[in-house]
This record gives sequence, structure tokens and C-alpha cells, in this order.
Amino acid sequence: MGTGVLTVDLNAIAANWRALDRASASGVQTAAVVKADAYGLGVARVARALAAAGARRFFVATAEEGATLRQSLGPGPQINILSGHLAGDTDMIGDLDLTPMLNSIDQITRHLEGLPGAGFGIQLDTGMNRLGMKELEWEAVAPFVLDAGPELIMSHLACADEPDNPMNHGQLILFQAMTEGTGVPRSLAATGGILLGPKYHFDLTRPGVGLYGGAPFTGAAPVVRLSLPVIQTHEVNAGETVGYAQGWMADLPTITATVSGGYADGLGRALSNKATLWDGDTPCPLIGRVSMDLITVDITHLPQVPDYLDIIGPYQGVDQLAEVAGTIGYEILTSLGPRYRRQYRKEEA
Ligand SMILES: *Cc1c(COP(=O)(O)O)cnc(C)c1O
Repeated sequence: MGTGVLTVDLNAIAANWRALDRASASGVQTAAVVKADAYGLGVARVARALAAAGARRFFVATAEEGATLRQSLGPGPQINILSGHLAGDTDMIGDLDLTPMLNSIDQITRHLEGLPGAGFGIQLDTGMNRLGMKELEWEAVAPFVLDAGPELIMSHLACADEPDNPMNHGQLILFQAMTEGTGVPRSLAATGGILLGPKYHFDLTRPGVGLYGGAPFTGAAPVVRLSLPVIQTHEVNAGETVGYAQGWMADLPTITATVSGGYADGLGRALSNKATLWDGDTPCPLIGRVSMDLITVDITHLPQVPDYLDIIGPYQGVDQLAEVAGTIGYEILTSLGPRYRRQYRKEEA
């Protein structure tokens, strides 16, 4: 086998959803964010596991993602589109019963004219300046929009992973002011917002990264294991170098393993000479530069050549690898490339 194996633990995803569901009061609905192919893990299997765990409402970024998701889930669960209703989306939204979160007056007009009577939600901007209507815009259209019966009003926190950042409270106060008395279900919290406490939960929460085992949900069950096959070993003499640009030089005689996986698979060049791979519980340093398809590892200290080395696993989670790469867990997950063999673990209850 020449490609890495990405093992996704569906039971852990379901357990993380239940844990985040329990973190809010019983009247609060917990949705699931499965945009970007369920953060790179494979939306079809992940969404079905979440539906089986009890999730009834899903969020994706685009109508195209919503169409793919509808095929996996079938009719029933609500699918919300964060980018709203764009030109060209109307047939897909109507035919597949997708619910756009309308972000602007243009989108509201397009939706109400193109699909009269079809469900929709509203997204408000409370300071992030990314998606949604601002206060004055919303004030101008609210009476008319509320008449048309939105199913949900939401906004998004810019700094929810920093509990002490005053931006959180500022967005909360503004969201309350913009939505008080509308009688429409409201949502402000993603994973970080859930952890900020009940004031942020309103009627519905929208966790994404926490489902997949990522920070800031530090209590999450780990979901991902990434094992890279050893495809060759080399005996490197002292003074010889390894890889492109002589990225590493041996001080002592060294045995190296070349494993399958590289920057084309989401293991970025920033990991060069920095990351650690694991043979079970034994760390093995990544040496030299990460290349497109291959990584070299020092295994001199191992008693035998392993079949696989883990780059994500029990001893190094997604967030720890992200830290070495100078990025965040979200980017590691969503960069995991299409070449891995995705393998899903699900023990029958
Ligand atoms: C991505 C996203 C989420 C999920 O965020 P996490 O931090 O992954 O929990 C929720 N709401 C919106 C608007 C998003 O863009």
C-alpha cells in the first residue's frame, strides 16, 4: 500500500456531538457544521453518523455542499447554507429543500422572489465584518423580513476561542439588541461560543471543529489517526545529507525511513526538520525537507522497521501537529488530501 491511512472514528464524533449537546440547556438544539467535506473527514459518513447520534440540523458553506449532503442524508434533516442564496443557486435550493442563511438585502430579494414561501434564515453581522447584515440595514428590512417568517436568526463570534476577549461580550450585547422580541429562534455560538457559557447559547448552537476533536474543545475525544507507510529505508553515513537542498546532515551513522505523504497531502513544508512521527509510543524525528509525496524520518533507535509511522495519533493530536506547523487544527484537518485511504471506525452499540 503506497498511500497513508486516515482512520476516522465515527463513534468519537458522535460522542463529541453528545458532549457538546449536553453542554447546553435541554431546550437548546445542537446542530452540526459539516462544511468543507466535514472538515476534510468525508461528509457522507460523518453526517450519517451525526444524524444517527441525534443531529437534526446541519450547516454547510455553499449550496453545492448542501446538495451533496442532501444525497447522503435523504429528506428530513434541515440543511442550512451559510453563504446564503447566490445567483444560480435557486434551483438547487428549491429542489433539494436547502435553507439559506440570507446575508444581504440582495439575497433576501432573490430568495423571496425566486422561491416564494421557501424556508430561510437570516445572518446578522455583529462586528466580524464577514457575512450578514449590519444594524442599520437590518432595522430597515426587519419588519418586512420577519413577516416572511425566517426560521432562524444567527450571527458569528470573531474571538470565541479567547474567553477573556471583550469582543465576545460586545457581540453578545449587539446580537441581543438586534434580535430581542423577534420571536424567531436565534443562534450565536459555534464550538468556542458553547464553551463561553449559557448566555451565548440562545436556541441553537452550531459546533464544527469540536466534533472533530479540535481546540478549543479540549475535552473532545480524539477522532483522527493518520498512519504513513514506510516504503524504503536508507543507511546514511556521517556527513551525508538527506533530501532536497541537503536539508539535514547526519552527525552519526543513521537509519532513515522514507514514508508516503507530503505537502500534496496537507503535510506542509513548515514541518520540515521539526515534526515528530510515532512508532507506537516511540517518537521518531522528521528529518530534512518535506517533499511533495514523501517524508524522511530518523528511525535509528527503533529495534525493527515499522510498517507505518503515525503523524497524527494518540501521542500527537491534530492541534499539536498544527502547532508545530505554525497553524491551527482547522487548517490541518481541511488540508488532509484526497490520496489517503479513508477508513471509518464504528463499533456497533
Ligand atoms: C465554521 C462555522 C461554524 C463552526 O465553527 P467551529 O469553530 O468549527 O465550531 C459555525 N458558524 C459559522 C458561521 C461558521 O462559519
